[in-house]
Amino acid sequence: MMTAPSQPALRGELRLDESLKRYNTWRVGGRARQMYLPADRADLAMFLQTLPADEPLLWLGLGSNLLIRDGGFSGTVIVLQGRLNALSIEGESVHVEAGLACAKVARECARANLTGAAFLAGIPGTMGGALAMNAGAFGGETWPIVAAVTTIDRCGVIRDRRPSQYSVAYRHVERPAEEWFVACELALRPGDATAEQGAIRALLDRRAATQPTGQASCGSTFRNPPGDFAARLIEASGLKGHRIGGAEVSTKHANFIINTGDASARDIERLIAHVGTEVERQQGVSLRTEVHMVGEPA
Ligand SMILES: Cc1cc2nc3c(=O)[nH]c(=O)nc-3n(C[C@H](O)[C@H](O)[C@H](O)COP(=O)(O)OP(=O)(O)OC[C@H]3O[C@@H](n4cnc5c(N)ncnc54)[C@H](O)[C@@H]3O)c2cc1C
Repeated sequence: MMTAPSQPALRGELRLDESLKRYNTWRVGGRARQMYLPADRADLAMFLQTLPADEPLLWLGLGSNLLIRDGGFSGTVIVLQGRLNALSIEGESVHVEAGLACAKVARECARANLTGAAFLAGIPGTMGGALAMNAGAFGGETWPIVAAVTTIDRCGVIRDRRPSQYSVAYRHVERPAEEWFVACELALRPGDATAEQGAIRALLDRRAATQPTGQASCGSTFRNPPGDFAARLIEASGLKGHRIGGAEVSTKHANFIINTGDASARDIERLIAHVGTEVERQQGVSLRTEVHMVGEPA
């Protein structure tokens, strides 16, 4: 009797009808039709091959730059956080998988006497999210330290790409459609662990002094317009403390919108729209959101 060659079994975790509230830093949003947490890169590739060609996909890091709407996501959410999280260092070259937290990358690079990645310490996302957003802080940005990236497409095909293949701007990266990051290679410079650890501490202290870090938010809601600051424009428009439902413009940093406890995604989206309209009316500046909005309204 002939038997068909058996497919290796998937080793990741499939969750059905999963609430997305605990997968984003605003703590809002509906449910995902399904969610996959891969065991590793090969398992992710295999899982992607099982999906219909037109399956809607949402890639999630730590959800620190995402407004997930109350109706949730009627497709497959891929979660890399805590899954693809290896890091290895060879000389000044650092290989990082996309699910690793940026703060951990900063700490490990500092410990290895490397300089150039300290700014990542204050970004509460994954390396994949930092690549997708060109995340940056205190003068540092993600892509200037990237030597290469590895991507995966919806057929599970893995590719190595150079930074020159991406169009990178302030908090914005244009990348080949339907390709997502699974790893990157950072090129750093020799430094001193004690100095780097001091720089990380100083950066975190400065952040805690100026931002509502202990409250549920997605960091900066709007991108800074050229030559100005979104926070300054919002404050000058008298919007600090303005509330819609459970969403509030932070009184500590006007570009942060806080979930005060029971905000819905709709409250937050309405407040974002209100702030944008008021800043345009009062200051004549059209703000663009930094936060990505996904999913369906309730
Ligand atoms: C308190 C606070 C402070 C912040 N401070 C800063 C700051 O100083 N500087 C800054 O730049 N940002 C800041 N942010 C915003 C946020 O942390 C960054 O944008 C971060 O890079 C998002 O990473 P993430 O893993 O959470 O991505 P997510 O929010 O999960 O996703 C963001 C976008 O990236 C896509 N994405 C995620 N993973 C991948 C992947 N592997 N491949 C392709 N696309 C992917 C998602 O689909 C989504 O479109 C702050 C946020 C908070 C809550």
